[in-house]
Amino acid sequence: MNQSDLVIIGSGPAGLTAAIYAARANLKPVVLAGLVPGGQLMTTSEVENYPGFPEGIMGPELMDKMTKQAERFGATMVYENVVSADFQSKPFKLITQSNAEFTAKAVIISTGAEAKWLGLESEQRLRGKGVSACATCDGFFFKGKDVVVVGGGDSAMEETLFLTKFATKVYLVHRREEFRASKIMVERVKNHPQVELVLNSETVEVLGDQNVTGVKVKNVNTNEERTIAAQGFFAAIGHTPATKVFVDAGIEVDSKGYIVVKDHTHTNIEGVFVAGDVHDPRYRQAVTAAGFGCMASLDAEKYLAH
Ligand code: NAP
Repeated sequence: MNQSDLVIIGSGPAGLTAAIYAARANLKPVVLAGLVPGGQLMTTSEVENYPGFPEGIMGPELMDKMTKQAERFGATMVYENVVSADFQSKPFKLITQSNAEFTAKAVIISTGAEAKWLGLESEQRLRGKGVSACATCDGFFFKGKDVVVVGGGDSAMEETLFLTKFATKVYLVHRREEFRASKIMVERVKNHPQVELVLNSETVEVLGDQNVTGVKVKNVNTNEERTIAAQGFFAAIGHTPATKVFVDAGIEVDSKGYIVVKDHTHTNIEGVFVAGDVHDPRYRQAVTAAGFGCMASLDAEKYLAH
C-alpha cells in the first residue's frame, strides 16, 4: 500500500501544475499519471499560446518540462490509471489497473476531457495533418486557407468565428437544420461573409493523403454527395470529461458529466478537489488548466493543514 497526504490524478497541465505547487509545499504528492501521460497536449503539435515560450513549444516537450519540474521538487509519478476510488473511507482509497492501492488524506482530480470525434478512419489518419479538434490551438496554421468545421453547438460556433480570422472561408457542416448553440452565436455565424452553412449534412470522409485536401459530405435528405475543397477539418461536436470512476465513487457531476464545483476547486466531497477540463467545458486551455491546478493545490494544502 502507498500512503501519502495528497494524490493527484491526471498529468495534463492541471495535474502537473498542482504537483509542482504541492511538491514545493513539501506535501510529497503522488501523481497517478495514467498509462498515456501528458493529457491532450500530447496529441497537439506546436503550442504557441502558452506564456513564456515566444518561439512556441511542442506539446509533448511542454508536458515533459512540467513533469521534470514537478519531480525536481519531490513529486512521484506513477504511470497507471485509476480504476476505482473510495471517497467514503478516510483516508481515501484509490486502486489502479495493476491492483495497486494508494491512500491519501486529500485528492485532486485532474483527469481532463477528450474531444469527441466523428469516428471516421480518414479523420484519425489525418489528425495533426489538417484534422484538429481545437481551433484556438491550430487555427493560426490555416492562414489564407479554406476549412470545414463540424458541429452545431456553441463550440462549433465559437470555432467557426475564430477560424474566420485566419481562414479565407469556413464551411460549417451540421447534421440538422436547427442549431443547438445560443441564438446570438448562430446569428453571428449566419451573417458572417466568410462562412458558408452546409446544413442537413453529415461528413462521409476527410480527403487527403499526406494532408487534408477536402471533405466529402452527404445531404441526409437528398443523399446527394458533395466534395468541399479545404485544407483543414475541425471536429467541434463536444468533449467527454473523464469522470466515470469518480461518479461511481459519489462525486457529483452535471448533465454532461463534468464535475460540479462547489467553491472554486472543492467537489461535493470534503477533501476531494478538482482542476482543469474535467470540470471546465468553457475555457479548455492549457494555461487555464494550469491555473486551476495551482488553485486546487493551494486549497488542498489549506485543507491538509487543518
Ligand atoms: P454540444 O452543445 O453538446 O453540441 C455538440 C454538437 O455537435 C451538436 O450540435 C450535435 O448535433 C453535434 N454532434 C454531436 N455528435 C455528432 C456526430 N457524431 N456527428 C455530427 N454532429 C454531431 O457541445 P459543445 O458545443 O462543445 O458545448 C458543450 C457545452 O459547453 C454547452 O453547454 C455549451 O453551451 C458550452 N459552451 C459554451 C461556450 C460559451 O458560452 N462561450 C462555448 C463553448 C461551449 P445535434 O445538435 O444534432 O445533436
